[in-house]
Amino acid sequence: MTRLSQTLLPTERQPPADAEAISHQLMVRAGLVRQMGAGLWSWLPAGWRAHQRVVGIIREEMERIGSQEVLMPVLQPAELWKRTGRYDAIGGELFRLKDRRDADMVLAMTHEEAMTNHVAQIVRSYRDLPFSLFHFQIKERDEPRPRAGVLRTREFIMKDAYTFDRDEAGLQAQYERFREAYARVYDRSGLRWYEVESDTGMMGGKRAHEYMAPCAAGEDDVVLADGGAVYAANVEVASADPQPVTLPDAPDAPVRVETPGTRTIAKLAAHLDRPAGALLKAFPVVVSGSEAYADGVVLLLLRGDHEVVDVKLAKALGGTVRQANEDEIRDRIGPPGFLGPIGADVPVVVDAAVEATGTGAWVVGANETDVHLDGVVLGRDFAYDVVDVRAVVAGDTVDGTPVTIEPAIEVGNIFQLMTRYSEPLDATFLDEDGKTHAIVMGSYGIGPARIVAAAVEQFHDERGIAWPKAIAPYEIEVVGLGKPGGDEAAAAERVYDELREAGFDVLLDDRAGGAGSKLADAELLGAPLRITVGKRSLADGRVEAQIRRGQETIEGGLPLDGLSDAVRELWERVP
Ligand code: ATP
Ligand code: MG
Repeated sequence: MTRLSQTLLPTERQPPADAEAISHQLMVRAGLVRQMGAGLWSWLPAGWRAHQRVVGIIREEMERIGSQEVLMPVLQPAELWKRTGRYDAIGGELFRLKDRRDADMVLAMTHEEAMTNHVAQIVRSYRDLPFSLFHFQIKERDEPRPRAGVLRTREFIMKDAYTFDRDEAGLQAQYERFREAYARVYDRSGLRWYEVESDTGMMGGKRAHEYMAPCAAGEDDVVLADGGAVYAANVEVASADPQPVTLPDAPDAPVRVETPGTRTIAKLAAHLDRPAGALLKAFPVVVSGSEAYADGVVLLLLRGDHEVVDVKLAKALGGTVRQANEDEIRDRIGPPGFLGPIGADVPVVVDAAVEATGTGAWVVGANETDVHLDGVVLGRDFAYDVVDVRAVVAGDTVDGTPVTIEPAIEVGNIFQLMTRYSEPLDATFLDEDGKTHAIVMGSYGIGPARIVAAAVEQFHDERGIAWPKAIAPYEIEVVGLGKPGGDEAAAAERVYDELREAGFDVLLDDRAGGAGSKLADAELLGAPLRITVGKRSLADGRVEAQIRRGQETIEGGLPLDGLSDAVRELWERVP
């Protein structure tokens, strides 16, 4: 039973002063959430209803694929995290504390350690496998930049699931089932979304996908060909064919050109009257932990119109990467601003887009102040390895289809962990021959709060939120105009009862107050369907109806006689 007169729904005309993201503004204004501190948010009744509807969808889809619900503590012994190495590897994001006995504890930011530890104690034989477990539990993360309302908070609920298999084929099969379940979750939630290949990051492991909801507040950039139908990937891993650049024919040997003061690509392009894409920029970097580039300093060459993606570079070079400083390069390569591959006493790597551009003459630094070399030919004039490390840009192509780049927020992700956690935590099983193997694992996360906020980002207008009907706090808002106790109010009560009996989730605005402010609140809160009971239509035995998305008023309203049937029919086409 939900009457606005008895509901805590503190709507506001103005958004909080610091709110930039539209979901932050609207969720506070609509009375869904309130902030307690940096990255700490409380959910008020209407907001929590939306959150729990998302939770309900996720739970159904997890159970549909046979995953079993459990609950594990947030407060955990640090010991487990020490065994997997994450206690030391993770920086300030992990909350570390001591209990009264001075034991190291952590507040879990995810539950691989906890889950794997239990499974290690329970599973003995291949007969105990495969299975899958999930829970909805709070995660604590001391995010460096909590932002955008509930999109990035320091405490949030996650649905995290884990799969346990005897081999990679088993993992692949469960992974595919989760992909299908995730697709159903986002479809049912009413989001615009796509699945992209992603980096495995701190989770470790093999393959990973992210689920992205395009929206202005998104922190990731996603590359899409044909809106995602042909190709979709996070910029951090995306590859595409570069836009063409015509290179001049190459002379027999490189030619020295005086280029005084041209330390930037823009200046060099203007000076030589060449497009930036026909010039090569040089990035000296220092790699550590790499087998292939054990020596440290590496010179990266990139087309002048391209930028490097740090994540791709680290992966390509097989270690952690930082910019080289002047002392590290002056003797072995040359002076900054005029660096080039010829004569450099370090390994040279060339971005794949440079090769893909075709044959012809490139311009590179001459490793001498105020001098460049023109007419340089890859391979002929210097040796190199090819790496794919540049950021794809809009207009590049995948299989001939041009790509666009959109901001998006990650609403979920799935990882093939393999044995990243089962090995250090001794989660093993015995096979038919009595041989011991590490359990092969996957992990699968979704942030319900992000689904809620992403829906607000995607579906709103100048008047407020226009919820997808599957996750709206209320499906229908009935607004009774006129005075409390009057004819309209009485009719609104009857409508409210009838629609509830018909199975709808209904909010009744039974407050005293003007029509203007009631309707404004209804538009702000954004129930997918609004029924307004006012004097004029009531006289004709009808009520007004509006589909919130697109503010579509139903011509002539709906008849009071047989109202629930009319509403049911209309509901079919509510998005
Ligand atoms: P991000 O790259 O956005 O920080 P993540 O890779 O850290 O996300 P996971 O650790 O894999 O995310 O968590 C799984 C899901 O939990 C994410 O897809 C997202 O929906 C949600 N999530 C992660 N961090 C937050 C946060 N700080 N606030 C709210 N939801 C979050
Ligand atoms: Mg994160």
